Amino acid sequence: MGSPPAQWMFVVDIEDFRHWSKEAANWGADYRASLPDLPVRPDIQPGDISKQIEESPPEHAESMDALFADFQEKIIPGITHWQHPGFFAYFPSNAAPAAVVADYLVTAISAQCMLWQTSPAATELETKMIDWLRQAMGLPKPFTGVIQDSASSATLTAILTMRERALAFSGNKQGLTSQPRLRIYASDQVHSSIDKAIWVAGIGDENLVRVPTSGPLRSMDTEALEKAIIEDREKGYLPAGIIGCVGGTSVGATDDIAAICEVAQRQELYHHVDAAWAGSAMICEEFRDLWSGIEGADSIVFNPHKWLGAPFDCSVQFLKDPTDQIKTLSIQPEYLKTLGQSDLINYSEWTVPLGRRFRALKLWFLMRAYGLGGLRSRIRNHVKWCSDVCEGLRDTKGFEITSEPILALFSFRHVPAGMTDDEALDAHNLRLVEAINRDGRIYLTQTKLDGQTAIRFTVGQFDVTEAYVLSAVYIVREIAEKIESVSE
Ligand code: PLP
Repeated sequence: MGSPPAQWMFVVDIEDFRHWSKEAANWGADYRASLPDLPVRPDIQPGDISKQIEESPPEHAESMDALFADFQEKIIPGITHWQHPGFFAYFPSNAAPAAVVADYLVTAISAQCMLWQTSPAATELETKMIDWLRQAMGLPKPFTGVIQDSASSATLTAILTMRERALAFSGNKQGLTSQPRLRIYASDQVHSSIDKAIWVAGIGDENLVRVPTSGPLRSMDTEALEKAIIEDREKGYLPAGIIGCVGGTSVGATDDIAAICEVAQRQELYHHVDAAWAGSAMICEEFRDLWSGIEGADSIVFNPHKWLGAPFDCSVQFLKDPTDQIKTLSIQPEYLKTLGQSDLINYSEWTVPLGRRFRALKLWFLMRAYGLGGLRSRIRNHVKWCSDVCEGLRDTKGFEITSEPILALFSFRHVPAGMTDDEALDAHNLRLVEAINRDGRIYLTQTKLDGQTAIRFTVGQFDVTEAYVLSAVYIVREIAEKIESVSE
């Protein structure tokens, strides 16, 4: 048997690949430059895109020219532009240019990084990037971690770990049918990903105990938390863990993490903290008061794909000690063993999915291309400019601030003169948010706060300018005036 042939791919394919990769990169740069001229959210109806796509796959190959043209004509008009400077909705899903380049490279390589040996560089860079971020965020040394696809997955793994710890690691083997009823505790402000993880882990929604919140940060009442745990034990339930919240989705609710850690310690419960959005801000020392006591938590999730600048998907789960999570999720059939080496890190044993993308590269590019200094100054600017927009609306007749800024998120509502009925105000503010989004210059989303509709405003676009952010005040005022005069 000789060597494999040197030319193992049709040359024409390689040259096509080179050409179209360059076209894609050029298109990406032009796209980013053109964003301010596009409406943030497309003004289209459900089905508008679908009706342009063939009903069945083609039997014969089509040219890349045709594909590229269709991408631009049929797909782009149906995209909501998350990298648009006027995107102030949900939370950001940033993609810093240098980190996008890293993701192009990752896709070109397309390694499946489930085990150390399926791409040693991916595993070893992941370990380093977790440690870089640990240092950047001021977490102490025992913390290590893993990169997951999303905060939802990280929270699911934490809840599975809580479940298995509480059941002395018998749940995976015996199932949950004849086990005591498990209980998980979280505030009434946590993201729906916590509810979903409770469902998927087989614990059941009724066993997610929602502890009331109060105060300007809408923090969990930790006395009520401990009381609920003690009472549950008396009733024969099996408390398994607590989820803390730093920077909740609705209006940035933030628990007293130090106080929850004390309860968790006294009650010997596992404590996972969801800081999916706010975690990025912890690279700035002055914001760390918000999660004071965090070193006492067992597991922390934050999404560099939200505010830090790593393209989706990239969610970091820090773990004080990964042993219990690995014990919960590790499974090693013969075909996944690395011969002769049993002491390697295989990150797929830390997570639910086996297959893993090479996500560490974009973090490496991100932190090196901008430096922590560059990332910090962006986050500090976002927080400052968000506060300026808040003040601009507070000073505008007819606007009320419904929740004060927490980092770079606040909420408001418009109260036209003489409109006092709650239902009318809710309907008016929904009309306002829809009118703003149809206008297309900026994009906002609504929430419910103490039963009333409020409009959220969050700043986080990686390269947004102060002028663009502040223009939002004028746009919101202008559209509010317009819809007020129409309804008069
Ligand atoms: N936790 C919080 C506070 C969030 O805001 C979100 C999403 O916005 C999530 C969790 C879920 O994040 P992911 O989409 O990464 O699962």
